[in-house]
Amino acid sequence: MRLDRFLAESTELTRSLAKRALSRGEVTVNGEPEKKGARHVGDADRVAWLGQTLSLVGLRHVMLHKPTGVECTARRGLYPRAVDLIDLPKAERLQPVGRLDVETTGLLLLTDDGQWSHRVTSPRRGCAKVYRATLARPLEGDEAERAVAAFAEGIRLEGEATTTRPAELEPLDARHARLTVHEGRYHQVRRMFAAIGNHVEALHRESVGALVLDPALAPGEWRQLSDAEVALFA
Ligand code: URA
Repeated sequence: MRLDRFLAESTELTRSLAKRALSRGEVTVNGEPEKKGARHVGDADRVAWLGQTLSLVGLRHVMLHKPTGVECTARRGLYPRAVDLIDLPKAERLQPVGRLDVETTGLLLLTDDGQWSHRVTSPRRGCAKVYRATLARPLEGDEAERAVAAFAEGIRLEGEATTTRPAELEPLDARHARLTVHEGRYHQVRRMFAAIGNHVEALHRESVGALVLDPALAPGEWRQLSDAEVALFA
């Protein structure tokens, strides 16, 4: 890889700032000052900027306990972005793996590994996503039983041609339920409850596939996934 590209990939420097750092003599390769951005460096070379040895960023896989009031978009908008909470070099390269609504809390995965992201979200895999919903209206009488049956059967969401895939509803108490879905339609959980005449007041994602939100993470906190966790979506 060219040295200027290596610098841009392994630091916060843009390609043009990397070139400037090179021309100022701030970069060494194997202990020798190097000013040429076109120089090729390989695995065996030790590159340093201002005395700090650098290594390539590589692919990152992050779990975030998404707090409410945070957006899953790439562009800056009304709300802070999930990616802004991740204090890693080149964090802006991380993309949310699927989306959570601004108000939804819980497990959000972010990565710069496009193939991994595709495996997690691929409709063919039908990976289970588990949500805990707080409902505006209590599920009374046989309503809970009817909702379990309707969600298991699949329901027609407003404006959609196909019914939802079978989903598992587990009522926890009158106003709380756990719902497992195997697809990722727009506002799916909120719309499913709206379709049975209820309203979701709060929504929290507990898990995606076998990956469960780490209970050690407070809202807004994140950590990188272990190799074993990344391999859950091999
Ligand atoms: N379903 C929703 O309605 N909202 C989310 O954030 C996730 C799933």
